[in-house]
Amino acid sequence: MRFDVIYPQAVFYKGKVSTGLAIEISKEGYISRIDNISAFKESKRLEGLLLPGFVNAHSHSFQVALRGIKERFTEKDDFWKWRKKMYNLVTSLSPQRMYDIYFKAFSEMKRAGITTVGEFHYLHHISGRRWIGDEVVLAAAKDANIRIVLLSVCYLTGDFGAPPHEGQKHFISTSVKEFFDAIERVGGKASKNQSIGVAPHSVRTVPVKELSIVVKESQYQRLPIHIHLEEQSKEVEEARKFYGKRPVELLFSITRDLRNVTAIHLTQTPPELIDKFARLGGNLVVCPITEANLGDGVPDLKHSGLMKNKISLGTDSCLNISMLEEARWLELTQRLKFRRRGILVDETGELEIVLLNAMTLNGANTLSVVSGSIEVGAYADFVLVKMTDDVEDMLSALIFSGDRSTITATAVGGEWEFY
Ligand SMILES: [Zn+2]
Repeated sequence: MRFDVIYPQAVFYKGKVSTGLAIEISKEGYISRIDNISAFKESKRLEGLLLPGFVNAHSHSFQVALRGIKERFTEKDDFWKWRKKMYNLVTSLSPQRMYDIYFKAFSEMKRAGITTVGEFHYLHHISGRRWIGDEVVLAAAKDANIRIVLLSVCYLTGDFGAPPHEGQKHFISTSVKEFFDAIERVGGKASKNQSIGVAPHSVRTVPVKELSIVVKESQYQRLPIHIHLEEQSKEVEEARKFYGKRPVELLFSITRDLRNVTAIHLTQTPPELIDKFARLGGNLVVCPITEANLGDGVPDLKHSGLMKNKISLGTDSCLNISMLEEARWLELTQRLKFRRRGILVDETGELEIVLLNAMTLNGANTLSVVSGSIEVGAYADFVLVKMTDDVEDMLSALIFSGDRSTITATAVGGEWEFY
C-alpha cells in the first residue's frame, strides 16, 4: 500500500515531536517534501506518532531456529557450547528450510518496527551448493519487504589458524579473492532496497595478514566493514597468545582510519581503548539481549563521551526480536554495571534521543543507508507507534515501556504494512 502524501498525528522531526506536518513521498520511495499540512491538497491521515524506521545493525537471522534449544542447561553451558549447537543446525539446512527461517525472522523484524537489517551473513554454502545462501537471504528479505544490507562475512579458518570445524565449512571462503568475487556476484543480484557490506568475521577466523587486505580493499570500494571484536574473554586471551595483541589493537595496527568500520560488541574492551576506537572514527553495535543470554558481560559505555553518540543496536541471535527491548537494556545494563541511573545521557542530561538514535540514525550510518531520520532525501522508511497522553514524555515511555502492541504500521521505501 502506497500514499503520495501522509499526514501523521505527530512526527519526530528535527529532534522533536511536532504536529501539523505532512510528508510527501516520491515514486522511487524517498521523502521528497516535508511541509505544513496546509501546503498539500490531499493526504492520508495516520493516527499515531511517526518515527524513522528502526535499524537492526547486527543480526544472524537463521538463529531464530535455535530459540529454546539454547535454554536447556544439562551441563556447563557457555558461548562455546552454544556455538556447537548452532553448527549442528546449519549442517541440517536445505535452501527451502533456510528461506523459511529467514522469511520468518525478517517478518518478525518488520512487526517489531525494524525497516532495515544489517544481516551479518556467514551461512554461504548449504546442501553442498557454494554461495547459494546469499541468494536465499536476499530472496527472503525481498519477500518480507525489509531493507537489507547483506554484510557478507569473510571467514577463512577455524579458530586462530586451526582447520575449520565441520560446521564452519558452511562459512569458509577458500581465499580473499574468492570472497571478493562472491561479493561482486551477489552485489549484481541485489534488487531495490538491497545493498552489500563486508564483514571479516573476527580475528579468530581471519588471519591478520588477510584481515588487512579485506579492510583495505573494502575501504577502497567504500563498503561498510563490520567485525565481531572482543565479545568473549577467551578470544582476547587467545589473540594475545597468538599475536601478542588484543583484537582491537590488531585492528589499530592495520588501519588508523576507522570511519567505515563498525565493531560488534567490544564487551571485554577497556574504556580507554573504546575511546581510542571512537576517536579513530569507529562505530559500535551493542546487542544487549544476546550478550546477556550468552553470559558475555556488559561493555563499558560510560567513559567515552564520543562513543555514546555512535552506538547502534542489533538483535544478533534474534532470541527476542525487539528494538525497544534492546534500547532499554542498552541503558539498563549500564545502570546495573555502574549502580547509577542515566549513564548514556547527552550533554543536556537527555536520554531518550540518545536511545532513539541508537535504534535508528546511528545504525543507518554504520550500514551506509540513507535512513534513520525523517528528512528530505532519506528513504521513506517509517514506524508508526501509538501516542500516549503525555506528549512530553512520549519517547521515554515508548522506549522504556513499549512493546510490539505499541507498533501499528511500518513503511519501507514508502510501501506500508499495517498491523
Ligand atoms: Zn554476531
